[in-house]
Amino acid sequence: MILPIYLYGQPVLRKIASDITQEYPNLKELIANMFETMYNADGIGLAAPQIGLDIRLFVIDLEPLAEDNPQYADFKKVFINPRIVEYSGDIVKMDEGCLSLPGISEPVEREANIRIQYLDENFVAHDETYGDFFARCIQHEYDHIEGKLFIDKISGIRRQLIKGKLNNLIKGRTNCGYRVKAVQK
Ligand code: ZN
Repeated sequence: MILPIYLYGQPVLRKIASDITQEYPNLKELIANMFETMYNADGIGLAAPQIGLDIRLFVIDLEPLAEDNPQYADFKKVFINPRIVEYSGDIVKMDEGCLSLPGISEPVEREANIRIQYLDENFVAHDETYGDFFARCIQHEYDHIEGKLFIDKISGIRRQLIKGKLNNLIKGRTNCGYRVKAVQK
């Protein structure tokens, strides 16, 4: 089932999300719905707050990038109760966008490498290190469950320049091709 994506301005996007247990209701179905919602919006990552749930869960699938970059094939992952325990390497700047901020793309500085501990969809524990675009995607989604958005990391001047776009998103004014839920009707 395709779920509406919560737009900038929704308070749930600013909450620090909580851990879940294996007993979380309909978790399998929820994860399947998150992937379906993400694919429908042509996204490569989606975090639970973006569908209105303040829980520590996000999904990533980099397959759409694999045509030009084979290393991204088969990177389809579910992250439950993740903790980034280490950031390292150079600061890298790269343009980012977000399904909760359609129409906005800004350069964001992030650490090159991360180490993350998480549970997968079967509640098997993992402790993994990532670099490159993997680390960027994971950091972007991880920020969501910490109540942060990529525009928090851009300069004050850049934020001033996109203020009109942000106000439109609060009012639900966007022509993105997917279902959204704005804070104002
Ligand atoms: Zn996002």
